[in-house]
Amino acid sequence: MEKIYIIGHTSPDLDTVASAIAYANLKNQLTKTENYLPVIAGEVNAETDFALKKFHFEKPSILESLAQKKVILVDHNENSQSLKGREKAEIIEVLDHHKVDFSYSKPIVFKVFPLGASATIIARCYEKNNLEISKEIAGLLLSAILVDTVITKSPTCTEEDIKYIEKLAKIAQIEDWRAYGLELFKIRSSVNTKTPEEIIKGDFKDFNFKQGKIGIGQVETVDLSDFDDLKENLLKKLKEIQEKENYHSVILFITDIMK
Ligand code: MG
Ligand code: MG
Ligand code: MG
Repeated sequence: MEKIYIIGHTSPDLDTVASAIAYANLKNQLTKTENYLPVIAGEVNAETDFALKKFHFEKPSILESLAQKKVILVDHNENSQSLKGREKAEIIEVLDHHKVDFSYSKPIVFKVFPLGASATIIARCYEKNNLEISKEIAGLLLSAILVDTVITKSPTCTEEDIKYIEKLAKIAQIEDWRAYGLELFKIRSSVNTKTPEEIIKGDFKDFNFKQGKIGIGQVETVDLSDFDDLKENLLKKLKEIQEKENYHSVILFITDIMK
């Protein structure tokens, strides 16, 4: 059978990568095949790299274009956040937790739930199908939920997310998931090892508005003063991205998650 590629958004974050890997694992188990292949739309960020290594996963390979491929989109549905070539792809399913801006010429499986992470939807899918979640998959999904919900502090975090954080932490044998979450955010915000571009693009999304394309980057930190000396270089880089990549505006949100 033809391969089906499972892929998240460009500038892949941990939820996008974990969801692709775990959903491929689930689909392969359900169909008793190896037809489902997790792939990514670009280089992974630091905390994703860390979580992949911690739970013994290989980094999925980077797909160049969606054109002529059968795909399942995870952790995004908007065209502006997909890898190029989507108009020539066959989309067979969407699994996501974001606002919906999607149209397609055929009826497809469209699973969108108002939860804190795509990883939560996938953990629930394992349960509904009575599939066991391995220690490794549990660790990866847990990491994704912790980052996407900002260790449950995000307004998008639900009771359901917290329930799965606790379940998955048990399976992954992570005793203190709050401490593990902080560990992830320390890596995510370790600005001294990153270029301004890496800081801006580590978690970055495009939104198309009538006025033009808006790019939004997000960084969470445990110490805002880390950014004091970086301000000027970050602003310079934002301006450069805006001009070079034709944005109406480029915005970077820096959040102190301790405060
Ligand atoms: Mg994401
Ligand atoms: Mg997500
Ligand atoms: Mg995110």
